[in-house]
Amino acid sequence: MKIKKKSAVMLCGVFCTALTAVPVLADIEVQKYTNTDFAMDTVVSETLYTTGDDLNTAIGQKIRDIETEYLSWTDEDSQIAKLNAASGETTEVSDELAGYLEKIFQLAKDSNGAFDPTIGKIIRLWDITGENPHVPEQSELDELLKDVGYQKVSLDGDKVTLEKGATLDLGATGKGIGCDVVSDFLKTQEDVSGMILNLGGSSVMAYGEKPDGSDWKVAVTDPRDVEGDYLGAITLEGGEFLSTSGDYEKYFMEDGKRYHHILDPKTGYPVWNGLDSVTVVCDSGLLADGLSTACFVLGMDDALELLEKYNAEAVFVDEDKNVYLTSGMKDRFELMKNTYTVKEAE
Ligand code: ADP
Ligand code: MG
Repeated sequence: MKIKKKSAVMLCGVFCTALTAVPVLADIEVQKYTNTDFAMDTVVSETLYTTGDDLNTAIGQKIRDIETEYLSWTDEDSQIAKLNAASGETTEVSDELAGYLEKIFQLAKDSNGAFDPTIGKIIRLWDITGENPHVPEQSELDELLKDVGYQKVSLDGDKVTLEKGATLDLGATGKGIGCDVVSDFLKTQEDVSGMILNLGGSSVMAYGEKPDGSDWKVAVTDPRDVEGDYLGAITLEGGEFLSTSGDYEKYFMEDGKRYHHILDPKTGYPVWNGLDSVTVVCDSGLLADGLSTACFVLGMDDALELLEKYNAEAVFVDEDKNVYLTSGMKDRFELMKNTYTVKEAE
């Protein structure tokens, strides 16, 4: 059995800073700070443009705090761990988490349960990135599927009630929430004129602008290039967020089949619908992240309707080396591999 976890672990624990002066006005210099950090189990890359101090430490801390305060399944002090421990009862959560949950459950509803934040027990059963990745017995899956279903959770302001046995896992939106939190923080920092933040290559935030006015450009991974070469690039405006969900990030191979980490909540099995990856761009990190997962599960036809509702654009890459672009994506996507064919998503 071959196990693959592609998250640029080689950079793990490396903290580096590069500083370049970019003159714009006679008396104020915008500085460019480039940093690499590690948070949410992944590599964080940042490029910050500011007339003030480098904010690398504060930004890294913000992202780590979201993990420990809200999202962690293992840290029993996190709000999600507390909610899961109190399954069957009503728990009061912070205003922030209540706000995230409202968006998350709306997306679960709008995607007809293709995106389902109660799937956590099943992803752990597969143990795709753990010590013992394996195909579970059908009986084990059936047992856990009884506790899956976004309708098992009710929200009433800051009060959250999970049906007994049901659990919450915000894994599919965690990095997107991280991007939103950093974006909100930057809005309070007058010295900052622009930033690009990349969490693990799958969630990206573009904020403000570059001193020279040039576009923010984000590379999209070729889902089948083992060297990690890029498929193309997408132009982002300040205030936009990008997220990619693919079957190449976390998976194991068995009998020629790719068992990956995006599951169909109805069956508990990885989604095999011909898509290799979906990249979504919209004006919210949480939604870009949730939508990319939802669209991957739905497949292109049903995904298009959902994207329209959220005013989001997307790139779909399928196993036949087609790259489908939504109408608003055409002018901002640049293909970098001639082994792929660009088509219109319709
Ligand atoms: P990544 O976290 O690797 O960037 P995604 O954003 O697509 O990728 O999220 C995948 C994670 O979301 C899985 O590891 C799992 O915890 C969870 N997940 C898997 N399938 C679903 C689904 N259908 N709905 C909601 N969450 C899911
Ligand atoms: Mg996602």
